[in-house]
This record gives sequence, structure tokens and C-alpha cells, in this order.
Amino acid sequence: MKDLSLLEIIENIKSKKITSKEVWNYFVWRIEKYDEKLWAFNFVNKDWFKENDNSILAWVPLWIKDIFCEKWVPTTGSSKMLENFIPPYDATVIKKLKEAWMSSIGKVNMDEFAMWSTWWNSAFRPTWNPWDLTRISWGSSSGSASWVSAWLIPAALGTDTGWSLRQPASMCNVVWFRPSYWRNSRYWVMPMASSLDCPWTITKTVRDAWLLYEIMNWHDKLENTSIEVKDIIDPKIWETKNLKWVKVWLPKEYFEEWLDIWVKQTILKAIEKLKELWAEIVDISLPMTKYAVAAYYIIVPAEVSTNLWRLDWLRYWYSSNKPYNDMQEFYMHNRWEWLWVEAQRRSVLWAYVLSAWFYDSYFKKACQIRTLIIEDFKKAFEKVDVIVSPVSPNVAWKIWQNLNDPLKDYLADAYTIPASLAWLPGISVPAWFTKSEDNEKKLLPVWLQILTSQFSEQKLLEVANVFEKATWYAKQNPQWFED
Ligand code: GLN
Repeated sequence: MKDLSLLEIIENIKSKKITSKEVWNYFVWRIEKYDEKLWAFNFVNKDWFKENDNSILAWVPLWIKDIFCEKWVPTTGSSKMLENFIPPYDATVIKKLKEAWMSSIGKVNMDEFAMWSTWWNSAFRPTWNPWDLTRISWGSSSGSASWVSAWLIPAALGTDTGWSLRQPASMCNVVWFRPSYWRNSRYWVMPMASSLDCPWTITKTVRDAWLLYEIMNWHDKLENTSIEVKDIIDPKIWETKNLKWVKVWLPKEYFEEWLDIWVKQTILKAIEKLKELWAEIVDISLPMTKYAVAAYYIIVPAEVSTNLWRLDWLRYWYSSNKPYNDMQEFYMHNRWEWLWVEAQRRSVLWAYVLSAWFYDSYFKKACQIRTLIIEDFKKAFEKVDVIVSPVSPNVAWKIWQNLNDPLKDYLADAYTIPASLAWLPGISVPAWFTKSEDNEKKLLPVWLQILTSQFSEQKLLEVANVFEKATWYAKQNPQWFED
């Protein structure tokens, strides 16, 4: 059963070859057997099971990043601050999934409130990369990626602000998909940076990503950035065999400076594959790319900290036992005691970039750059259908690598952040495997990011599906998770 995609599991349940109870029990068994190596979950709903064989999807299990509120299920954001929080509501996406008979089997680990990227920012524990247990799984959707990759579950939900689905999915060899920002409902998903957050999926195949997209693509009246764009993906796209109609743009800025040589070679191989499939490759430039990381790390801390202020240590469980003389001291103790280092760092940055003195030179400037990045992409999509690039400049780091170097961490976002700032949809497909930078024998996955213009998700799914079918890399899983 582990080899089956989400779609295949559903087909087997519908044709009564397996029952949803068997599926559920199998994955709980598998998780109990292997999770001690990965440390991916925060909460498992072992006893929960409802059978309803008349339903279309009859309760298929999914894993949910611990940032989606689920009624009466502990939801922590992997923060000590919310360790005992039990929400009274379902997030809209959870509701939609339940209506389609898909249910959460539990909550998976992440970086605290989705900040940072290299797993150790979870207040509970790190989650390991199943491809190499001495390497990080990346974050913030580390638990979701790690488990789908080890085939402990067919699909999971995550969120992507700057790259939090893309990096972990790519480092762990699974498909991420993120539609246009305006198709998302963030209602009762813990906010990180509201003008960028996109709750979406990690799956084993492109078609599974489409299946969940059909369920989750919903105009939510409770979410004021969700807009109504009703379109249906044409089923004919699954028959397409080549990319004769596709103009692909390779932005030269994404192949410069900090791109690791191993990753570069692997991506160039994938480009050759695209040419074999008859795609026309065009080589032009996105000049504003070089400012994207700087703009993002001003806009995001400002939004993050604004969102974090709702955790005022009066309404939630934890509060410091240290004596305090006034409210300011009370807030200080709690903020430093219960928040992890990255949340603290962003709070300080926020106070600086939004202050009356520096607002114009930092926050306002960053917003202007964002507009120029959006314009850059608009012009690009007048000429081409899709843009391809590496997801990450490097393969998964060793656990000790760059541990105390936040700048390295921020720069690793360079290829994903521009599209997030411009609200673009994107998907990834496996490019190939490469040797690790220290030349060890182990092979590590490298993935290709495919971007397109807003609301053109069909084009993305079509290109990604042709590429996936023409290669075999996505069918690989780390050998030691047999059974
Ligand atoms: N590295 C990015 C950050 O820390 C990614 C976070 C995200 O996408 N949730 O902001």
C-alpha cells in the first residue's frame, strides 16, 4: 500500500479492494514503526476512525502541519507558547477536506509559527531527512515533507510563505504545489506573514496535487483576500505527451553567484530533458531578483511580529513565574521565555523597520521593490508560458551546517522568494539526484521549480505532469522504509 498514490488509494477504496479502515490502520502502524527515526509528529489521532463506505472518498488519512486549527485537536504551531491550545474551530481548508471525506490523522512538526527554514526552530524537536539521517529536512513544513517522502502517508498539508513547502518538499523528493495567492483561504490557519501565506499541499505525484487543489480551491467569504475565480482543470491535460507548445524561460539571475555546482549540473540536465520534450528554451533576465531577499526580510518580520502580538500571554496558557513590577516587565519575561530565537529576532527587526524614523528607508522601500518584482514577472509572462529555476541553491545541509548563521539561511530562499512576493502559482518536479557536496556516496534529490502567471494553474499542472511522466525520479523513496 505504501507505493500507492493518494488517487490510487481512493480508487482502491471505491472499487472495494481495500477498506478505508485498512488504509488508516496501515499508516498508523507504519508511522509507529518508523517515526522514531524521523521525529515528525506532534500529535497522532490513533483512535479516530469513521467508516462510511457509501462516501466517495471514505475517510482517507492526511497529515496536517501543526499550524492549521482543527476543532478539538491540539494545535501548537510547534511553539511552547501554545503547547496546550485546543482550537474551537476548523480552518476552512480542513472543513473542505472533511467534506470530501479526507481527514487528519494528526499534526506534524514544523518550525515555530512557520518561521525560519532549517528545522531546529521547532520548540519541541527537529525532524530528520529520510534520504540521509545526518541531514536536515528543511522547514518550515519539515514534518509534512519528511513523512510523505518516507511514504508514511500519501499526502500532507503545509503552508508556504517564502518557501516553506518548496524547500522541504524538494530536499525530501516530494511534489509541492502552491496556487495563486488569491485562491487561498487562511481562515483559522495561524498567520505568519499574511500578505504571503499560502496553505497548500505536499504529495507524491502531480495528479495528487491536482486532486487536493480541486477540493481546496474555494472562494471563502470569511477570508478577505480570497477571490472568486471559478475554473475547471481540463482532464485532457493528463494526456499531453510533449511540450511543443511551451516557451520556457530560464532567468539568468537564478543561475549565478551562490548556486552550488552540483545543483547547477543537475538542473542543466533537467533542462536538457525539457528540450527533448520539445519545449522552447528562452534565455532572458529578471533584473529585480537580486533585491528580493532583502525586501522579503523587511516585509516579513514586520508582518510576523504584527501577527505575533495576539499572543499577549494573558489569553493563552503559559506565562512566566518570574515576579514583575509592571505590565511591560510582564510582557518582556514572557516574550523572551516562551518564544524561540527567530521569533525574537523578527520582533526586534519589526520594531526597527516600522519605526517612525526608519519606515521610509526600509518598509516603504521594500514595498516599492515588491511592486517592481511584480512588474518584472508581468513582463516576462507576456513572452513565455513558464519560468523554470532551481528550488534551492544547495542540497540539504548537514545538521550542524550553518546552524548559527541566519544570513546563510535567508540567502537560501533566493529562488523562491520573488515568486512569493509576486503571488504567483508554482509547482516542483524532481530534476534528478546528485552527489552531496562533500562527495559522499549518498544521492540527494534536486528539484526544479516551475512558475507561471496568476490563475494559470492548468498550464503548470500540464507541464509538470509531462515532465514527471517522462522521468522516474519521483517514484524513488529512501530504501530503508521498506514493508
Ligand atoms: N525561510 C522563510 C522564512 O523564514 C520561509 C518561511 C515560510 O515560507 N513559512 O521566512
